[in-house]
Amino acid sequence: MDFVHQPYQPGETVAAITTPLGEGGVAIIRISGKEAFAVGNRVFSRSLDALPTHTVHYGSIKNATGSKVDDVLLVLMRGPRSYTGEDTIEINCHGGALITRRVLETVLAAGARAARPGEFTFKAFMNGKIDLAQAEAVQELIAAKNEYALDAAESQLQGGLSTRILSFQKQLTHVAAILEAWVDFPEEGLEFATMDEICLDLDTIREKMEELISSFHDGRILHEGLTLCLVGLPNVGKSSLMNTLLDKERAIVSHIPGTTRDIVEDHLRLNGLNFKLMDTAGIRHAEDIVEQEGIRRSRQAFAQADLVLLLLDASRGLHPEEEILIAEMPPGKTIAVWNKTDLPHDEFPSIHLPHVVSISAKTREGLTELKKTVDSVVWEKGPPSKDELVITNVRHKEALQNAVEACQRLVEGLRTEISPEFLTLEIRQALSSLGSIIGTNISEDILTAIFSTFCIGK
Ligand code: GDP
Repeated sequence: MDFVHQPYQPGETVAAITTPLGEGGVAIIRISGKEAFAVGNRVFSRSLDALPTHTVHYGSIKNATGSKVDDVLLVLMRGPRSYTGEDTIEINCHGGALITRRVLETVLAAGARAARPGEFTFKAFMNGKIDLAQAEAVQELIAAKNEYALDAAESQLQGGLSTRILSFQKQLTHVAAILEAWVDFPEEGLEFATMDEICLDLDTIREKMEELISSFHDGRILHEGLTLCLVGLPNVGKSSLMNTLLDKERAIVSHIPGTTRDIVEDHLRLNGLNFKLMDTAGIRHAEDIVEQEGIRRSRQAFAQADLVLLLLDASRGLHPEEEILIAEMPPGKTIAVWNKTDLPHDEFPSIHLPHVVSISAKTREGLTELKKTVDSVVWEKGPPSKDELVITNVRHKEALQNAVEACQRLVEGLRTEISPEFLTLEIRQALSSLGSIIGTNISEDILTAIFSTFCIGK
């Protein structure tokens, strides 16, 4: 077994700084492995031998010549009751980059090997403390950029997804047992009633898997955030709205049409979600080559965006070019926004888009309504609740998809009375796809790909 292209030796003692590098009050150096306490005894001012597990001790770290490196607090955890499942020591030292590195070097000189990226979590996986979906959840928990993503990662880390996968596997194993009995005793055949029952069971499992796959829409929103594009003719107030949403002066606001020549990007948190906000060049018929290029990029941006706000100027009414623009907009993801409602205006003409709101970027009037509309367009069925299981990982989605397809082929095979040997192959395929999510039957290449995205110290 390899880990990140190096042979993996179970129990080998490794160490790394687990806190971010830089200046801070405290930094933590973690040591994990069979020799963790032996290494600890070589560097710590007190013997660790008689100390009870899960206790904290004040002392100092000393190097091979006996000079003091730092005053520290040492946390001692005997395996298997630790993150990695192995004997573990965590040294809390002063948080400067240099001092932390010096403590780590002292630990390495005392016999630990420098941990590779993700190695602590890999050890936890190999020692059965967590499965692969939970290991991935650790990464997602750390990287979560909004409350929803945090809840989804937390539930996955607690084993929410793994429990669901195990239950699919259990039900499929039951079907597999019936099919295998059929392979062993073909002359007895499969009773018609049993066949019907199996098909029904398989359809139920498949539907539940499909339900989980459909949660990926929400999962992607949580994980990657969304792009929101502001579109409209020059001078309708796109930059002003962007600044109002961001609460700062970001885009250049001016009354000269065509000021925003390129796409201005920023990040926005709206309704607890992360948006990449793009203010595009005003779309209009332009002679100027630079402006034409800006307009081309705008079109590309709104075609690719998850959500488009099409701004219209309430004080001037609908422009013929805007009528063309409205027809161009993807209705499912566009919100038409009448801006400048603080100025005198006529009644708005009707617009063939399902979502229309009116606001004033200047006075902030209507902004709450706009945010509500954004929410309703983003979430097909409302935001996921805290206990709802959402998959956020494309690897999990593909594995579920493979299992669904294998189940479909199985049902078709049963109905058309294909040989039972073939059917058992299909069911094994479904079981192994599900297994890959939690890390049973998984290739080293995939493990390497997953853990190589971790940083050192995780
Ligand atoms: P853009 O070209 O679409 O980005 O438009 P700007 O944001 O640069 O705004 C054009 C002009 O309209 C500026 O003079 C803004 O101050 C003004 N403006 C934008 N929004 C409003 C609004 O809600 N009310 C009023 N009264 N003026 C606005």
